[in-house]
Amino acid sequence: MLTTHNLTYSYPGTNPVFRFPDLTVGSAEACLLLGPSGAGKSTWLHLLAGLLTPAAGSTFLDGTDYAKLTGGALDRFRGRNIGLVLQRAYFLEALTVKENLLIARRSAGLPADEEGAHTVLEQLGIGPLAARRPHQLSIGEQQRATIARALVNHPKLILADEPTSALDNRNAARVSSLLRQRAAELGAALVVVTHDQRLRDDYSTVVELQPSTPQQTY
Ligand code: ADP
Repeated sequence: MLTTHNLTYSYPGTNPVFRFPDLTVGSAEACLLLGPSGAGKSTWLHLLAGLLTPAAGSTFLDGTDYAKLTGGALDRFRGRNIGLVLQRAYFLEALTVKENLLIARRSAGLPADEEGAHTVLEQLGIGPLAARRPHQLSIGEQQRATIARALVNHPKLILADEPTSALDNRNAARVSSLLRQRAAELGAALVVVTHDQRLRDDYSTVVELQPSTPQQTY
């Protein structure tokens, strides 16, 4: 379960102080964080991933306090417990899609699992593309490969940043549904941040952020 309390953040040398609403997202639950561009959604997601350190407040994942993990420990914790689906697919182009998944496990210190990688690619409907290089996939297929990579370590938390913004309606609906379905099957908490209003009706929990203003309070 993911919980946050009184999270705030401001970028060094800038005025706005982002104050984020408290979140509780249980295992197999999904939460949509909706707001316009510039509202602080990516900032929030980076805090939830432990990629940014808050000015104040706390984040716990399954009882682990991010503030107690420093340096390498936080990176290892993230690698093992958090699956990230970022706006753009960052793959190693020299490797195949499947090898990119295997590397994700290795860098988290987990044993290779060829069968697991194959299974997750099949589940996302891109099994036949496993041996291709990432650039040989369409945008929609790349986004599904990004999701596959986020799932391959069986994370407790899946964080997705605008996973559908580059997709047409059909692919957006498909990606959104796959994310929710796979997260629920894994028993992972799922947090999606987006400005994409098309996703609103898919989620029972929706938290809306207002546009950013100096000294803002949500
Ligand atoms: P969103 O994801 O909702 O579009 P972001 O979290 O990316 O919003 O950014 C919120 C605001 O924070 C931006 O409008 C920008 O002014 C500011 N911001 C984002 N990243 C940085 C940074 N690295 N340094 C300074 N300000 C930043």
